[in-house]
Amino acid sequence: MELTKIEAWLKEKGEPHFRAKQIREAFYKKFVPGFEAITALPAPLREALGRRFRPLSLEPEQVLVSAAGDAVKASFRLKDGEVVESVLLSLAAEKWTVCVSTQVGCGVRCPFCATGRKGLKRNLSPEEITDQVLFWGQYLAKEGPDRRVGGVVFMGMGEPFMNYNAVSESLKRLSDPDYFGIGQRHISVSTAGHAQGILRFAREFPQVNLAVSLHTVDEEVRDKLVPMNKLYPLRKLAKAMEEYLRATRRRIFIEYALMEGINAEEKNARQLYEWLKPVAPLKYFTINLIAYNETGGKYRAPSREKVKAFADFLEMLGATVTVRKSLGSDIRGACGQLASTNLKGKK
Ligand code: SAH
Ligand code: SF4
Repeated sequence: MELTKIEAWLKEKGEPHFRAKQIREAFYKKFVPGFEAITALPAPLREALGRRFRPLSLEPEQVLVSAAGDAVKASFRLKDGEVVESVLLSLAAEKWTVCVSTQVGCGVRCPFCATGRKGLKRNLSPEEITDQVLFWGQYLAKEGPDRRVGGVVFMGMGEPFMNYNAVSESLKRLSDPDYFGIGQRHISVSTAGHAQGILRFAREFPQVNLAVSLHTVDEEVRDKLVPMNKLYPLRKLAKAMEEYLRATRRRIFIEYALMEGINAEEKNARQLYEWLKPVAPLKYFTINLIAYNETGGKYRAPSREKVKAFADFLEMLGATVTVRKSLGSDIRGACGQLASTNLKGKK
């Protein structure tokens, strides 16, 4: 939603000052589906706005609901024809979290990730990021009056810190009480380890949660698994994390996707522990383990028993560990599966 353009247009038409506020509140507080539903506006104005403006900068093309009903994936067509995806997740009853994309594709090119295999097409604008949340707000408003977006995670397509400025603008919009009003502590940004971005984020958004996708603490393995490691090797990443913790006093979420034959053995769990220990006391970390989601490549998830053993081992050493439930894999909406493959060639 480009409210500034709408505001300018309203002014040009000589409309009273409060119209912009009425429109903003209708979209961001009531999540109306379009201008025609803003009954507080005179009918001719509603029609004129509807003809002149589109509420969303992206066009939903396909919405898929997972069999369990706890994940919904939307594919959006952008103005230039590119496609991005966003997922609505139910993490607890009535509490909905939106997973947003920040780029079309991703330039980090992690070989295990479906988004990475596409490479980077382009950055999303702040509107294109927040409009994903606006779309889900509208979607939930249609479903029932108490359904609301309670949180946002920047864990969709793209590396947020490679599009820092747009991500920063979108974070301000999401937490602004005049717009979405989502508390910063209910928002999380996940990075593949962009050390410079982490430092800037610590200064500018100390209340927003930070997740670091570590996956391995073996330099050679990480060079292959997360190619950005060549730019920001483990040593630099550790320094940035230390600085983040010093500046914010918040905990860091460590993302660790378990892959058979790569990083899922007990010895890998010990290495992870040994690596974290000098960065900060373990109470400053939550380790989110996630069994690898199939993306059609060569990587495989370890057995359930192995995932549990990995978690138990770290817990025994005093770490806080969660094993992430993988929602939406039947609609290719789980972590790492977003690639808009279902829309290839379709207009
Ligand atoms: N680019 C950012 C955020 C998006 S990816 C990042 O990498 O952190 C969101 C999370 O899903 C990351 O932790 C990523 O490593 C993980 N992921 C990617 N592909 C996956 C897969 N196939 N199975 C499980 N997790 C995966
Ligand atoms: Fe990009 Fe994250 Fe996928 Fe790596 S895991 S390719 S950084 S989206």
